[in-house]
Amino acid sequence: MSNFDNIRIVLVNTSHPGNIGGAARAIKNMGLSRLYLVAPKEYPADRAVWRAANALDVLDNAVVVGDLDEAVAGCGLVVGTSARGRRITWPLLNPRECGERVWREAEQHDVAIVFGREDRGLTNEELHKCTYHVHIPSNPDYSSLNLAAAVQVLCYEVRMASMADAEGTLPSFDEWDQPPAKAQDLEMYFQHLEQALVDIGFHDRDNPRQTMTRLRRLYGRIRLDEMELSILRGVLTAIQNAAYRMKKAIESKG
Ligand code: SAH
Repeated sequence: MSNFDNIRIVLVNTSHPGNIGGAARAIKNMGLSRLYLVAPKEYPADRAVWRAANALDVLDNAVVVGDLDEAVAGCGLVVGTSARGRRITWPLLNPRECGERVWREAEQHDVAIVFGREDRGLTNEELHKCTYHVHIPSNPDYSSLNLAAAVQVLCYEVRMASMADAEGTLPSFDEWDQPPAKAQDLEMYFQHLEQALVDIGFHDRDNPRQTMTRLRRLYGRIRLDEMELSILRGVLTAIQNAAYRMKKAIESKG
């Protein structure tokens, strides 16, 4: 297995099948192979085949899924792309740093780079599922690249990182004794956390403010590992049990 095999390019809700073909070609040109399509508007399609040229194998092996969670299940790192700044700041990589980190981490686990819709990018909810965001520097007056062109740039940076690695010039990152928590386990954790915060009266689902977003960002900055995540889940269950016992005790008195 090479690191390339552990890298998924995820396209969310793509409208134009030509862009899917163009992305497939960019992926193969740069030595990657795994394409995930989240609910594409029009697929399979002749225009995708036409634009893919000799990257038909990438299209043939593309995995079509219903939502982003499915596309990133099993990934230890998820990077989201954005054509413009968002309201809430998020840990940001430039394309070079993205290539380096994606390449390094793909030595150990699956990694996803997620691309948004042609007309409106990724939703905030989707972006908040990502540990890092990456923005391709571009003209501030016209910052959004064509989808397949954006895929090309980021796959190129992965290729540059692979070459630096072969030459021994790629920076290394801190070694860690536990694997990072996987995307689907983090999602379960955030659901559990939200429920526990409701149970203890801290959080109101009808008036959520930015609480869960900020907590996602906090945990993302820490990069929880699998062991830490399972401890935290145990803590939440204990808190919920304590809240339940207190409620029962109050009910039995009243
Ligand atoms: N109007 C949309 C632009 C979507 S462009 C918006 O403002 O968000 C379609 C997709 O291409 C984006 O979701 C992103 O995945 C990618 N993309 C386009 N330009 C980019 C840029 N400058 N940096 C990073 N990704 C970009």
